[in-house]
Amino acid sequence: MGRYDRHIGLPGFDGEGQARLAGSSALVVGAGGIGSPLLYYLAAAGVGTIGIVDSDIVELSNLNRQILHFTSDIGEVKAASAAYKISQLNPEVKVVIHAVRLDDENSVDIAAGYDIVLGAVDNHETRRVLNRACATAGRPYIDGSVTGYTGMVGLFVPGKGPCRACLIPEEDDGDRAEAPPVLGAVAGMVGSMMAAETIRYLAEKGGLPAGKVVYFDVHSGVYESFELAKREKCPVCGNV
Ligand SMILES: [Zn+2]
Repeated sequence: MGRYDRHIGLPGFDGEGQARLAGSSALVVGAGGIGSPLLYYLAAAGVGTIGIVDSDIVELSNLNRQILHFTSDIGEVKAASAAYKISQLNPEVKVVIHAVRLDDENSVDIAAGYDIVLGAVDNHETRRVLNRACATAGRPYIDGSVTGYTGMVGLFVPGKGPCRACLIPEEDDGDRAEAPPVLGAVAGMVGSMMAAETIRYLAEKGGLPAGKVVYFDVHSGVYESFELAKREKCPVCGNV
């Protein structure tokens, strides 16, 4: 059996699906709790080129959720640790490290170099930068977030539906002073959901559900999804 044989029979993987995946690229911003399973699954599935953005260093308190990084990696650069792990998992995948902190200056060009952009970060400021960059570059953006036992995944496609700022206006989107608690497995669920949407989208070269948000709370047992409308006069995507 070959590496990808268990994909055969899945919608999107008949015929040329695996080759389409090999010819595709995805940018993962954040190699932490959400980015860990996301990167593992993208690499395992054979996404041809995977970009990683993360300028942080591995710390002991990361390890309850950031399963790309091992105890022996404490003190290492996360992007390098992540790149090593996924290259070991699948040497057929090309991994590109972007050792930068994203801002409005550099993010548009980086986003434009990939077929899809995946926000796996722990702060809203970077999410706003990514949302603006993807609206400008015309790249689909999947945003994942996790707080405590709750997770959320949003799918945004420029020109076809709302953007993240339609859901959460930028002026209402401040970061907390302190990072919230996070259960590792919940971050893992968010990252896995993002990976599944990305792989399906790239293999089928089909559309993403534009303006869909999935929310769940493992503590209360709520799992729901809803469709978003574009916000009139959204300052980010209003003219797209
Ligand atoms: Zn918008």
